This record gives sequence, structure tokens and C-alpha cells, in this order.
Amino acid sequence: MIIIDGSEGEGGGQVVRNACALSLVTGKPFRITNVRGKREKPGLMRQHVTAIEAACRIGGATCEGVSVGSSEIAFTPGRVVPGDYHFAVGTAGSTGLVFQTVLMPLLLAGGPSRLVLEGGTHNMLAPPFDFIAKAFVPVLRRMGAGIELRLVRHGFYPRGGGRIEVDVVPGKLEPIDCLDRGALRSVSATALFAGLPFDIAERELKTARQLLPDWPEAAFSVRQLPEEQGPGNALLLEAEFEHATEIVTGFGRLGLSAESLAKTAAQRMAGFLASDAFAGPYLADQLLLPFALAGGGRFTTVKPSQHSLTAADIIGRFLGRRPVFVQQSGGEHVMELR
Ligand code: ATP
Repeated sequence: MIIIDGSEGEGGGQVVRNACALSLVTGKPFRITNVRGKREKPGLMRQHVTAIEAACRIGGATCEGVSVGSSEIAFTPGRVVPGDYHFAVGTAGSTGLVFQTVLMPLLLAGGPSRLVLEGGTHNMLAPPFDFIAKAFVPVLRRMGAGIELRLVRHGFYPRGGGRIEVDVVPGKLEPIDCLDRGALRSVSATALFAGLPFDIAERELKTARQLLPDWPEAAFSVRQLPEEQGPGNALLLEAEFEHATEIVTGFGRLGLSAESLAKTAAQRMAGFLASDAFAGPYLADQLLLPFALAGGGRFTTVKPSQHSLTAADIIGRFLGRRPVFVQQSGGEHVMELR
């Protein structure tokens, strides 16, 4: 039994999701105490409960302590069974975080699976659908994974109601090197909105244009979604390189001005463009699990986040090999397994 203190490192929900995925893949049971111990409101929240329940469903696992507010869980994995699964994350919990939990076990299972995930598709503090589809999944495809995904309907906080569908064809994950992102091929800034005043999108794009002055006028566009998918708003900044794509997202919420949302997102994108890294901070923490399960490979990234360092720790506990970040003379970091 692997015992994890959930208040160590990042001390958030990702510890729980990574532990579930690793447990299903390795067959090792685990216990987490002080679940989300560094969060203002510690313990499991609804979306973590859904992620654990999803892990139990696909992996015939049993888990004690799975309820909202619980600060201790004990997870015993079973056998992962590929198949058709439907998970409704409730109001606007993130579908992306459930996807994160079940993807690796299903990818390494003995047959194809289809996932239908309902809930939020563009949630704060979670990978939005566009990021998963364009930044994360293409790297996994290069490793040999068969993953197809579709966004059927957008879902924003707090209403949710989004739907994504994923087809997973298992295969062996091959280690790959992602050291060089290649030349910049195209950029775009899309203000997504539904059921909100049009000028929010225009103001976001105006601010983004000012802060990304090299981006061509044609790169900026508004995408109005059907009103019933709202209210919701997100600004998606995308940079497509030869070998990598980065998507920086600003999530609209009450009390946050369009200008400050766009400013933060544009500054983050400018920072990434100024680096030579293959992976931004979010992609880096999400790639650790597939790279570790592939048993090798390297990628370059920006300074590792607390999320990445904590994920590396958890991976090391289950697999015995651990992702490390080695700083290069140019400032980038290379992730490799030791
Ligand atoms: P908690 O509330 O405990 O912080 P959580 O379960 O909501 O936990 P985190 O532990 O913060 O989640 O993990 C969030 C995950 O979502 C990480 O894998 C992170 O890379 C990813 N993520 C967050 N924001 C973005 C974003 N804008 N784009 C892509 N991925 C994101």
C-alpha cells in the first residue's frame, strides 16, 4: 500500500487523479491522507469524487472515503476493462479532469474504449477541450496512442451541459524526444462566447492585439456559440509550431474584466513565445504521466511548476522511475526519467 500525504507539494486534486491512474496501471493500492491539504477548502470536491468514481468504474476498483469533503481515501485497483463509458461530471465540473484520470489506464488496456463525458468543457483551473485536442493529444499520438476526440457541445461554469466524446485505441506508448518545437507556423486568438454581450469578446481581442503586436490582424476572431450553451466566455490564444502547439486560455468569470483576462493570457503567451520550450507549464505536468509510462523520452519546458514537481513525486512512488527537470544553459529545462 502506497501512503501519500495529500498536503505535500502542490497539495491539490491532481495528486488524487494521478494516483488513481497510476494505481490502475500498476495494480498497486494507495491511501491518501490530508486530501487537498493545501487548498483553502481541503478534502474532496464534487469533481474529484467524479474522477475517482470514474477510475473505479473503468478499473473495477474499490475506494473508501469517496464523498465530498472527505480528507482520506483508500483505493484498491482491480482490472481495467475497456468499453463504452459515460460520465456526467455534474453541473460544471471539468470533463478534462476526468479525461486526465481515465485516459492512461484505458490506453494501456486490452481493447478499444469510447468515452462520453458531460459537464464543463472550458473550466478555470482545468485543461479546456481545445488544449487537450491540440496541445496534449497530438504528443500522445506521436507516442503511438490512438485517440480521437470531438467537442459536441461547449459547457461553461457554472451551468455546464457540455459534452465531449473520445475514442481510445490502445497500443504501446513509445518513448519520444520533444526537445525542439520547430518554427512557428501560425497563431490565432479566438474569443469564444455564448449568451453574453458581444463587446466582451471585442474588448478581449483589442487588449490581446495590443500585447501581441506581431500577430497579424487575421489571427483575431470572435466565435459566437449558440446562446443555450452559455453564459460563458473564454479567450483562446494558440501558437502552432512545427512539432508542438501551445494554447493559453483566459476564462471569463463574474468580476474579472475582459481587459485583465486578456492581458494575463496575452502576457503568458508572450512569455512562452519568448522561450524555446516545447511544453508550457500545463502541458509539462500533463505529459509526465505518459512519458513515465512509456519508460523514457524527454521534453523541454519552462521552469517546472509546483504541479509538475508534485506529479513527478507521485509518479516516482508508483513506478520507481522519476521525472526530473534539468536546467539548460539557455534557461529551458529538460524533463528526463531517472
Ligand atoms: P485543486 O482545486 O485541488 O487545485 P484541481 O483538481 O482542480 O485541484 P489541480 O490539482 O490544480 O486541479 O490540477 C489542474 C490540472 O489542470 C493540471 O493538470 C493543470 O495542468 C491543468 N490546467 C489548469 N489550467 C489549465 C489551462 N489553462 N490549460 C491547460 N491545462 C490547465
